[in-house]
Amino acid sequence: MTVPTYPVESAPSPASSAARAQLLHGGSVEQYRRTIADGVERVARRVATVDRPGTGVTPAELAPLVDRVDLDRPLGDAGAALDELENVYLRDAVWFHHPRYLAHLNCPVAIPALLGEAVLTAVNSSLDTWDQSAGATLIERRLIDWTAERIGLGPSADGVFTSGGSQSNLQALLLAREEACADAVGPAARAELLPRLRVLTSTAGHFSVQKSAKLLGLAPDAVLAVPTDARRRIDPDAVRAEIVRCRQAGLVVMAVVGTAGTTDFGSIDPLADLAGICAAAGVWLHVDAAYGCGLLVSPTRRHLLDGIERADSVTVDFHKSFFQPVSSSALVVRDRRALRHATYHADYLNPARMVEQRIPNQVDKSLQTTRRFDALKLWLTLRVMGPDALGTLFDDVVDRAADAWRAVSQDPRFEVVTRSELSTVVFRYLPTGPDRELADAANLHAREALAASGLAAVAGTRVDGRHFLKFTLLNPATTVDDVGFVLDLVATHAGRYVHDHTAALTCPVG
Ligand SMILES: *Cc1c(COP(=O)(O)O)cnc(C)c1O
Repeated sequence: MTVPTYPVESAPSPASSAARAQLLHGGSVEQYRRTIADGVERVARRVATVDRPGTGVTPAELAPLVDRVDLDRPLGDAGAALDELENVYLRDAVWFHHPRYLAHLNCPVAIPALLGEAVLTAVNSSLDTWDQSAGATLIERRLIDWTAERIGLGPSADGVFTSGGSQSNLQALLLAREEACADAVGPAARAELLPRLRVLTSTAGHFSVQKSAKLLGLAPDAVLAVPTDARRRIDPDAVRAEIVRCRQAGLVVMAVVGTAGTTDFGSIDPLADLAGICAAAGVWLHVDAAYGCGLLVSPTRRHLLDGIERADSVTVDFHKSFFQPVSSSALVVRDRRALRHATYHADYLNPARMVEQRIPNQVDKSLQTTRRFDALKLWLTLRVMGPDALGTLFDDVVDRAADAWRAVSQDPRFEVVTRSELSTVVFRYLPTGPDRELADAANLHAREALAASGLAAVAGTRVDGRHFLKFTLLNPATTVDDVGFVLDLVATHAGRYVHDHTAALTCPVG
């Protein structure tokens, strides 16, 4: 037998050699070290010197700088690209670590998690199968088990990391829909049932529930918003009544979504009551703890989640109250068998025989295929800091929000909505007398003026049809003085608006 001869391979072209030097491999580690260190250094310098959460840059100012970049003409050098990046991004970025960033559910990030991010992107494991991840699959599984144990879901629990709370909620409702359709055998029965499925959540629930319903092919009016009490917690009696009403109307409640930490009010639905109602009615209980999951590690407030252990599925967003960088979220379920609704087999990837061979894979449980090893960030955070340290940080921001609520509620310039169980404060500047009708416009103006100055970032929302402002505190470095400083800024901007517009009404022009 003759051995085949292969053609002699020519040396790579200079262009190819140069391009290969930009790929991470054994021969390019110096380049890797220098490039990453340079990037870290730039960010470190920025973080050390920013004196406000943003610059107030407008899209009109920034868009031309981004548009001007010629993506077909490379700079050839990471240093030059970083110089350019200062201009188009870093200089005007929004900095969540700044103590006067009080807007959305964005946290300062734990350094061990940043280490995890650096490692996971360089190694670039993919969490779909064992043969693309090896130990990464086991690490993700340990963290899911750890989370399920913190929740108290019992020995059959399982789950998977996801890209965020929206995806976790989508997957939970997919599982709930499939469980509700279990007896609808055949396409005709299923087609008849689908438009009759309903999901109950509170008026303060997250909009991803509605988006999920749409993606899942439910009826346009499938999500029923149940009223809340004054503290913005779902009214369990109303849930009970709604389930009865649906049944009488020939509708099928496929899930109740309780929220453990509503995005605006930080309110926690009465989870134990919901669990009792759902158990009695045979309805899937999903708990959206995207925000409130930090309580799982709180040394003092874990009891606020009592009842969560009776949920069928739970959403946790580590990138909100566990101080993890985006993305890091998980869906955890009480009964691992429910995850089969997300399982499909591909011959090239996860043939069914792998199950028999007991080769672990995560793709059988996930809506994604190729998937980041986000779990590594939480792993390193727990291994360096531990859960109590994370929980203490979350406790700090909840304490600070209570201080802020007290300050605002005692301040005659403002009106405040309910006291949050977590770390938001919803309030508004309240002009006196006949100027009160300017309240909506004044608060909108104050928020915009604040954003334009970059001195502080606050969010806005609507409560009962009126414009309010919102602090979301997730930074333990935010002090009561920072809150007072921002309140003064709000009052100044809103007061000026009221002053100008009252004057415009009372002084005839000319
Ligand atoms: C933020 C949030 C979500 C969505 O999570 P993402 O990670 O932003 O997709 C869902 N539910 C609640 C209550 C949230 O606060």
